[in-house]
Amino acid sequence: MVLESVRTAEIVANLADVRQRIAAAALRSGRRPSDVRLVAVSKTYPLADIAAALAAGQTDFGENRLEELWLKVEAARTQQLDAICWHMIGTIQSRKTREAVGPFALIHSVDRAKIAQRLSRDAEAAGCVLDVLLEVNVSGEASKHGFTAEEVLAAGADLLAQPGIRVCGLMTMAPYGNDPERTRPIFRALRTLQEQLRAHFPQGSWRELSMGMTNDFEVAIEEGATIVRIGSAIFGPRNG
Ligand SMILES: *Cc1c(COP(=O)(O)O)cnc(C)c1O
Repeated sequence: MVLESVRTAEIVANLADVRQRIAAAALRSGRRPSDVRLVAVSKTYPLADIAAALAAGQTDFGENRLEELWLKVEAARTQQLDAICWHMIGTIQSRKTREAVGPFALIHSVDRAKIAQRLSRDAEAAGCVLDVLLEVNVSGEASKHGFTAEEVLAAGADLLAQPGIRVCGLMTMAPYGNDPERTRPIFRALRTLQEQLRAHFPQGSWRELSMGMTNDFEVAIEEGATIVRIGSAIFGPRNG
């Protein structure tokens, strides 16, 4: 069976627009467009929509729930959509860490030491090493998950020493708002934390900064994002 989305034309046009805006923002920040990786956030959207984006050259896809991620991984396998790189971007419950060990390019959402330790343990048991980012709650909003900057600085050596995970950098979710300029200080603070971690823990890589979504990705790129996670600008608004 060939998967076909009724929305192929719309998705392809949206992708082209987003890529063009990413390229312009990268050039504004003195970087190459290829320095910014686009993760298309496909949560709630069917595999047919993912296949449409894949056919247009988009290979990185992000999901925020492990159940949905695994269903799509399995379905993609049966459809031979083997070029997809899957990203886990949502909160992982501590009793579910074993389900986060899988064929994933990157786990963006390691939000506390306990999750790092359990993921490492489960990955080791499975004989693999997972690439992960540390999620940081820069704004300090109580509703947001993530380490505080102080916690990452205090736990840095221990997190880098976990044998089943490879820490590749940082991720943040900016508070939702219509004015991306208000989130600029958040992105700038994540970049500053990255520089502090590089100085304190040079044994780590700290290369990636996963920040910026539909509402604010251009500002995030201007502030140094290496990965942007974009859903609705590509696939359209989600219901709920
Ligand atoms: C849903 C989601 C996104 C994408 O949100 P959009 O506003 O649709 O671009 C990015 N990151 C995370 C962690 C998400 O859950």
